[in-house]
Amino acid sequence: MLNDPKSDGILARIANAPYSTMPPGSVVVPFYEHAVHLLLAQEAAQTIGRHGGDDLLMLLDSHTASQLHALDELRGLARNIVVFGAAPPAWGRTDNITFVEYGPDFRSADRIFLMISSTVSVAVLGSLQPSAYDNEAHFTGGWTVQRVYIAHAIEALLGDKGRTLLGGMDAPDEGSIQLSELTMHLMTLHANALATRHQDMAMDKSDLFSVLNILKAISAKRRAHDILFVFVEQIARVVPSDRCSVVRVWGGAKYGLVLASHEDANIVDRKIELAKYPELQKSLMSREKVIINDVSEDPLTAALSDVLHRANIHAILVIPIVLFDESIGSLFLRAVRSEGGFSLREISFFEIVTEAAANALERAQLFESIQIANENLERLAITDGLTGLHNHRFFRERLDHEVERALRYKLPLSCLILDIDDFKQINDTYGHLAGDRVLKEIAERITHCIRKTDTCARYGGEEFVVIMPQTGVEGAVTQADRIRAMIAEAPFPALPQEQRVTVSLGVGMLDPNEMLTGEDLLRAADQALYRAKRNGKNRVAGPGQ
Ligand code: GH3
Ligand code: MG
Ligand code: MG
Repeated sequence: MLNDPKSDGILARIANAPYSTMPPGSVVVPFYEHAVHLLLAQEAAQTIGRHGGDDLLMLLDSHTASQLHALDELRGLARNIVVFGAAPPAWGRTDNITFVEYGPDFRSADRIFLMISSTVSVAVLGSLQPSAYDNEAHFTGGWTVQRVYIAHAIEALLGDKGRTLLGGMDAPDEGSIQLSELTMHLMTLHANALATRHQDMAMDKSDLFSVLNILKAISAKRRAHDILFVFVEQIARVVPSDRCSVVRVWGGAKYGLVLASHEDANIVDRKIELAKYPELQKSLMSREKVIINDVSEDPLTAALSDVLHRANIHAILVIPIVLFDESIGSLFLRAVRSEGGFSLREISFFEIVTEAAANALERAQLFESIQIANENLERLAITDGLTGLHNHRFFRERLDHEVERALRYKLPLSCLILDIDDFKQINDTYGHLAGDRVLKEIAERITHCIRKTDTCARYGGEEFVVIMPQTGVEGAVTQADRIRAMIAEAPFPALPQEQRVTVSLGVGMLDPNEMLTGEDLLRAADQALYRAKRNGKNRVAGPGQ
């Protein structure tokens, strides 16, 4: 793979160099991290410092050259140094240094570390390569101590000049003790780096599983409090914490509220005094996480350390839960430990899960606000805007339902229609606004007179209806007259004291032999109303009267 001609890396370019053929049997140990490149080059530079010999030739790129402090000593020892790219700022120009500009054989992404003397030789090479999948650069590198390869690489990079500089140092040095020692050093380092990487990957994998599990648990919840509780409970399970809670804080307020705590699902809105929580105040101000790994050492908590130790708190971590809508205050995840601090890995784990929880909370809020909006819409759809009573649509549905029920269970059912007398005149005399206020007042007086099981609605402009389940004609007429009197006898605040408003009412009762629908009952009540009007208004008419 390292010699793959399609690859753009320096190893492939060396393998396919036009002016020199790659020696057979070259051995290059691959690696894939820039950190490993620096680690191995640093180790090689140190070993060569001890065993290098006075004919040392070094080839370095300026980036690598500026990173390795072991070179400070070698710079004086080497006979020839070739630096690819600009001189590192700390390096003065001396006679033994040559600079090479960027070109087809050397690019700024290449990392070069090549050293050869009559006693030792080592190459640690690689290139950063942009990834097709993300913006992060990947590294492809290799190291070797093989003289033939190193000589070839020097020629590939410098052409004839390289051959001159080498001056015959490419002869195999099979039995060199320094070389085997260097090889062992590099192999040990490389193996350790691989083992650490392996461990990191295993940890990353288990973190990933935990994050997935927490996400699954969180997204199964729709209510904000359930989300918060699952969040703190799961987090405390994965990253051992003695207490893990979500706190809500308002800027400038003296108190905060604990919204959820992992110990107890029932903790809701427990009040805390912010003066005792400087870490929360700091996070609120800075909008950044706050990490206190030892409460007695940290200047933020040192003054409170006695209190904190008594509460068994040694370390505190606060992470802001950033929500788009901050009208509900700012939320923070707060975790405490009775011993030890929080590792970087744990902190980044907390941060990932906190972000996920914030997303779930936003969704929950959205869900709740949609639900409220829907309920409002439904309520609006069945409510009369002026009086707040049910509207015509609702009334018709309820009436059909009540008629059906009364017929099925053979129960009495009555209905009344009320129409304001000479309302046009009231409007004409006192204006429409006063008329509206009269309509509202009448709605209130009717509501006041009826039973809980009755349904009152605004039927039309200045007409109202009341459905009275389990009420016979006598009861309904009595009720209608009470309403009539309530309206006729008391003055209206919107009108002059002496101005009275009267209403006429028609009562209909369900007759199971003749009526089958709400429409039938309504017609009966309407006919009664017509009679009440005809007979002089301000009165109640029942069936057949
Ligand atoms: P009657 O005694 O025969 O019922 O006479 P009336 O004047 O009450 O009846 P009419 O049907 O002639 O007039 C009803 C009036 O009610 C006309 C209309 O302007 C008024 N009205 C209907 N809806 C509203 C409303 O929402 N607000 C106001 N202020 N007036 C309304
Ligand atoms: Mg009318
Ligand atoms: Mg009227």
